[in-house]
This record gives sequence, C-alpha cells and structure tokens, in this order.
Amino acid sequence: MSDTGRRSRILQAATDRGILHPERAPLAAFVDWERVTLNVEHLMHAFPADLSTLHAFAVKANSLVPVLARLRELGMGAEVASDGELTAALQAGFTPERIVFDSPAKSWQELRRALELGVSLNIDNFQELERVRQIVKERPSTSEIGIRLNPQVGTGDIAAMSTAGVHSKFGIPLEDPGMRERLIEAYLAHPWLRRAHTHVGSQGCPLPLIGQGVNELVRFADEVNTRAGFAQIQTLDIGGGLPVDFKTDAPLSAFDEYVAVLGEGAPRLFSGDYAIVTEFGRSILAKQGFIAAYVEYTKQVGGRDIAITHAGAQIATRTIFMPVAWPLRIEAFSQSGDAKSLEHTVVQDVAGPCCFAGDLVARGRELPALVPGDIVALLDTGAYYASNPFAYNSLPVPGVYGVSMTANAAPEFSVMREAQLEPYLEATAE
Ligand SMILES: *Cc1c(COP(=O)(O)O)cnc(C)c1O
Repeated sequence: MSDTGRRSRILQAATDRGILHPERAPLAAFVDWERVTLNVEHLMHAFPADLSTLHAFAVKANSLVPVLARLRELGMGAEVASDGELTAALQAGFTPERIVFDSPAKSWQELRRALELGVSLNIDNFQELERVRQIVKERPSTSEIGIRLNPQVGTGDIAAMSTAGVHSKFGIPLEDPGMRERLIEAYLAHPWLRRAHTHVGSQGCPLPLIGQGVNELVRFADEVNTRAGFAQIQTLDIGGGLPVDFKTDAPLSAFDEYVAVLGEGAPRLFSGDYAIVTEFGRSILAKQGFIAAYVEYTKQVGGRDIAITHAGAQIATRTIFMPVAWPLRIEAFSQSGDAKSLEHTVVQDVAGPCCFAGDLVARGRELPALVPGDIVALLDTGAYYASNPFAYNSLPVPGVYGVSMTANAAPEFSVMREAQLEPYLEATAE
C-alpha cells in the first residue's frame, strides 16, 4: 500500500467513526504507531550495540502523555525543558534516571525538584552551576549532572533553529576568550560534574556540522579527563537535531547516516570510553503523523483560488509565520477519505480559519481542485504541530489519535488527546 493509500485508509475509518466530522471535529491529528515503532527500532539499531546508550525523546516535539508512554514502552528516555514537561514525563512513567532536564532558564524550584528526584541535569551557564553547587552541598543528589557546551561551529539553514553559532543563547561558548579554560577548571573543581552536553541545532543543520559540534564535545571531555587524571566525564549527551525530509514519503529517519557521519567526524565518541545520550524529537515523530482538516469553503479572489480549511496557525504555527523555512506537503481527499485524482489540478492557496491574512498553510500549490467538504492532509506533522497548539481566535484544541493497523489493514484508533468541545475562555465574566 502506498503511503497515500495508508493515509486514505486512516481517513476513511476516521470519517466513518466520526473522529473527523464536518461539524463536531473538522480538524484532527493522527500518529501512526506502526511507523513510529519501526523508526525507533531503526534508531536503536543504528548505534553500536556494545555502547551504553539512552535515546531520550525531546518532549517538546510532542508532549502528550500517552504519546510519551508509548515511546517509553519502545525503550526511549525523555528530554525535558520545563517543569511542565518534567511532569508529563513522570506521568508517562519514565523513571527519573531516564529523564534529562535541559533548559536555559531553570528556576531554583525547578533545580531543587530535579535534583531531589534524581533527574539528569545539563547546566546551561556558570550562574546556574553556582545554584546547583549550593543545592547539592546542602543535600547530595543522585542526579547525573553535566554542562551544556556551545561548540560555536556555525549555524544551519534556519537561524531560529541553530544553537551552535557564535552568539547562540544556549550553553557555555567554548571558543570565547578564556572560556574553555574556565570551563575545564569548573569541571576539575566539581568532580560531581560527570557529563557534558551539546545540541548543535534542529532542522536545517547539515549532518557534518552536527558531527563537528559533537567532535568538539568529545575533544573537550577527553581534555577534562586527561587533566583530572581519571575518567571524570563518563557520559556524553550529543543532543538531537537530525533533520527530516519534508519533501517526500520517507518513513524512516536517516539515523544510520547520522551515525556514519559521527563515526567519521567524531570517532572517539564510539571508543567505549563514554556512555551516550541522544535527544531526538522531530526525527522520531514528524513523518509518522499527519493532520486532517475539512475544507469549509472555496473562493476566487483577484484570480486566486483559495480553499478555506480548519487547519491554520492554531496547529501549524511555524509554517504560517515562517512559510519559507517550514513548507508542508498537502494532500487532497474526498469527504469520505478517498485520495482525489491528480488528473485535474488547480494552483491554489490553502488557508486556515484564523482571522489574519497570512494564515495560509500553502501558497500557489498545485492540488486537485478542492471543493467544500473535501479533506486536506498536512503531512509530516507528527512533531511540533498539533501537539502544541496556539490559542489564537480561541479555536478549540483538536483531538490527536494514535493509529494501529490490524492484520487486515483496518485502522484502530486510541485517544492521545481528547478533542476540545467547549470553547476556551480567557476569563469568565461576572
Ligand atoms: C529541541 C531540542 C532537541 C530536539 O531537537 P529535534 O530537532 O526535535 O531533534 C534536543 N535537545 C535540545 C536541547 C533541544 O532544545
């Protein structure tokens, strides 16, 4: 079955069961668990089997507790960056030692909670190091603690997603004058710093750039351990950021290619001297999910064809505000979920329901002529889309459904998030 055929099966079943409904549920999102399982297995097999490795899912990519629980069952850990994400990870059943807490703005309270629980922690800056020092002096912690380095190797295609530029806001800049030495001395002075961390960037960072950043991390750890005279740094957290292909159906992410690039660019990573933590988000779930929305109206304006749908900025915020950096593939289906024929296409815009002109998920796109009642699917949206909606126009939060295909390819749905039925109100009038 083609991937379009697979999506069509899912939409047919979803419309049959009212999970998608023109009035009650004109927008819904789907996560294809069979595809996620294959992809996670692919990740686990890509890394050398004889190394201790924790693949921590970056919770911001999809923070729904049932999604996290399934990823835990598949053998992943969790990377969190706020108290809320930490709570979601604990609710999903992750044990503290399989949770990594990264955030550049951890409050005293967040630090105390993480250190009490024994969650691993990556410190972002020297001021935070001082807070952690004070807390563990009062009350020793079982947390594994490291520092995030910015290897300053450069930026990728999307500036907002790049975290290893000269001026990035994250971590301690290794190449700034005096910083490398100051950081090494901090490690030597605090022997409980047993990890080092970097995350070069997300989507748009080429693999060799990530490899270069990771190599800087390994070089740094080797230097600390040589100067310490023992294997002080035992774990290297190499972050996530493997880009995904938003242009084609490619159900597995390029984890094997990524590992090959690391083997080449940062060979000491796989020496056996270090345990490894990864923090992939987008590459775990993006291509394994999609969003579906009904077309409510179609119109022609100034010679331009526009389909007004229920999918806009509330679930595709990045695509709406940065359309060049985050283009999405769109597929057209009839109201019963059958793929529309590609024989008669029209160049059209696909708009969302939000009340501003830029709320377009696609511009000038050649698609089968859309009519009211059709369904559009926004592909590759399993991460960073429907799971973190934007409350603009008080639009309801759509349901998110896990899909499992039974032996005869009949989809079974499980609720990852209930569709919101009552409108969300900022404040209730007296
Ligand atoms: C966002 C983020 C990730 C995940 O990035 P992806 O591109 O989704 O893989 C991992 N680590 C840190 C520190 C992050 O901020």
